[in-house]
Amino acid sequence: MAGHRPFRQVRICANGNDNLNNLELAMKALVKSKAERGLWIEDISEPAIGINDVLMRVSYAGICGTDVHIYEWDEWGRRNVPVPMTIGHEFVGEIVAVGSNVNDFKPGDLVSGEGHVVCGRCRNCLAGRRHLCAATKGVGVSRPGCFAEYIALPMSNIWHHHPGIDQEVAAIFDPFGNAVHTALAFPVLGEDVLITGAGPIGIMAAAVARFAGARHIVITDVNPYRLELARKLGVTLAINTRETPLAEVQKQLGMAEGFDVGLEMSGNAQALREMLANMSHGAKIAILGIPAPSEVAIDWTQVIFNQITIQGIYGREMYETWYKMTVMLEAGLNIKPVITHRFSWREYEKAFEIMHSGNSGKVILDWRDSK
Ligand code: NAD
Ligand code: ZN
Repeated sequence: MAGHRPFRQVRICANGNDNLNNLELAMKALVKSKAERGLWIEDISEPAIGINDVLMRVSYAGICGTDVHIYEWDEWGRRNVPVPMTIGHEFVGEIVAVGSNVNDFKPGDLVSGEGHVVCGRCRNCLAGRRHLCAATKGVGVSRPGCFAEYIALPMSNIWHHHPGIDQEVAAIFDPFGNAVHTALAFPVLGEDVLITGAGPIGIMAAAVARFAGARHIVITDVNPYRLELARKLGVTLAINTRETPLAEVQKQLGMAEGFDVGLEMSGNAQALREMLANMSHGAKIAILGIPAPSEVAIDWTQVIFNQITIQGIYGREMYETWYKMTVMLEAGLNIKPVITHRFSWREYEKAFEIMHSGNSGKVILDWRDSK
């Protein structure tokens, strides 16, 4: 693989302290180096690894909405990201070095990294419910990320891909995992599913719900490009809610009692209200979409009298979601069409511009040619 030095030197740190500080290995990275709008190419030190860590050479990375928030330096970015910070958390790469405690991974393995680094010691972590850890650290948010030639992570955050997996698909396991975690939060076999928000995650969730045996899958958005993309991945109907009310859609599909399962993937308050108004009694709603940091008003009587279950979703289950992603791809699930744009990492400005326009699915940065 490009950039893999046969006898590479690795900075080793014991107990988190870099004890080989004379050895400087430089790499290229996209860094939030100033507390203002933008992102900058920097030469920074390669990550040091501890005895439990894995060092990877990044080949492809996906751009997430979170990265756009950090680029824009909006309120969320300012509140959550210390500068300087190498950002990015969706990637696939090849292992180039492992710490002395690491036995399950070896140089040459094709892997991705789970973007949430959990504490391992809290009640939920100890019980195996690591996605519920309250002390989670975000890769590319509060610890160095993958928009770089190399990234280091604890071995407990590494997912081994089968050789032969499409590497671009492997690069987006993080958001694919958000889609799977949400779409499988409630049983969808034979159910009518409403997805609000046809962003990359909503569209992948539609593909997963289809694969898992849902009957009707209706996805909504206000962006025609994204509705068209959703149609390519096999939804029953992709609806612009500015033009067609959901009550009409229900009639069109011969539905009498409302949607059985709702997946909120837009972060838009109006979308959530429309969803609540179109669910069946006893329906289940999983909310992944993150609203702007303000209160969202809903009609609570719809929740109470219709006896609706609402479940918040954050991240992925470690590692049941990763297992499900892997085996669904092996069983024929195809999410590749959600990837619409590819750029060299050097063209990151163009990539962020297309993300900003909203006229894209997943946008991938190619890091293989960084030397
Ligand atoms: P995205 O911003 O690309 O997609 C959201 C879509 O919602 C857009 O296409 C937008 O046009 C659409 N939308 C806006 N108003 C709407 C309305 N009234 N009705 C229907 N659709 C509307 O985001 P994404 O990357 O696909 O992620 C989906 C959501 O999940 C985002 O809110 C994101 O912040 C959130 N997210 C949450 C987690 C988590 O762990 N909880 C992880 C990743 C992303
Ligand atoms: Zn924990």
